Amino acid sequence: MSFWREDVAITAAISAQPAAALKPAAAAQPKTVCATPDALGVSRVVEIDTTGGPGFGFEHFKQFDFLADKEVVLTFDDGPWPGNTPAVLKALADECTKAVFFPIGKHATYHPEILRQVAAAGHTVGAHTWSHANLNSKKMTGQLAKDEVERGFSAVKLALGAAPSPFFRFPELQHGPAAMAYLGTRNVAVLSCDLDSFDFRAKDAAQIVNTVMTKLDKQGKGIILMHDFQKHTAEALPTLLGRLKAGGYKVVQMKAKAPFQTLAEYDEALVKDAKVPVTNTRALSSVVQTVSQ
Ligand SMILES: [Zn+2]
Repeated sequence: MSFWREDVAITAAISAQPAAALKPAAAAQPKTVCATPDALGVSRVVEIDTTGGPGFGFEHFKQFDFLADKEVVLTFDDGPWPGNTPAVLKALADECTKAVFFPIGKHATYHPEILRQVAAAGHTVGAHTWSHANLNSKKMTGQLAKDEVERGFSAVKLALGAAPSPFFRFPELQHGPAAMAYLGTRNVAVLSCDLDSFDFRAKDAAQIVNTVMTKLDKQGKGIILMHDFQKHTAEALPTLLGRLKAGGYKVVQMKAKAPFQTLAEYDEALVKDAKVPVTNTRALSSVVQTVSQ
């Protein structure tokens, strides 16, 4: 099954060209049926043309201001992780709403079945490097940055059995210039954020809800950065989604116009590394014998 075609209405499209920032609605398709009355839902879906690697999120990129007042984009980094990611998925499903996930490549290889649940639920899945390396550190070379990016995307593809979206988030929002340029050549959109929840250092769920709502009420809209890897975030989400609804906020889902094209050499290297080399070709019966029963 391909998760690429979704049964949601595409209500707007964003082009990499500022002049064509918002296109009229594409042909309307039936919306996903939601079982929950008065759920938060998804107010609109925007399709991103990632050609040239546009950047989003006003903390770093000011070019494309596509959210209207009271609109938010929910984003989750660092998964997939047992317990926390499924709890985040449940909270989102209970409100019939959608988010963008930025999994770590290694985590995707540890828990591919959880990442497949994320995609199956209709969320957008991008990538967040192979090992959460800081792509802006002094030790980072062009080759290492390329490896982190490509291996990360290939690991997500291997886990999903389908291509991820060409959406990328830099670990720690450290936008290394060489990696930025490389992502541009690969037609990958970079998502920073408008609003950091700082959930990874929150002492409890309530603090996350307060941080997000305080910033949101001040800014009025934005791409919200959270982590499905974090327990407190999973705990906070039902309350947070309820507060968004009560506050009149609307969720916008970001989707890509076309899937990411992984590089075959990275796909193949991952498959090769996943297999333990076979050095012993003896038959089972010659290795293991029942001597007592
Ligand atoms: Zn991260």
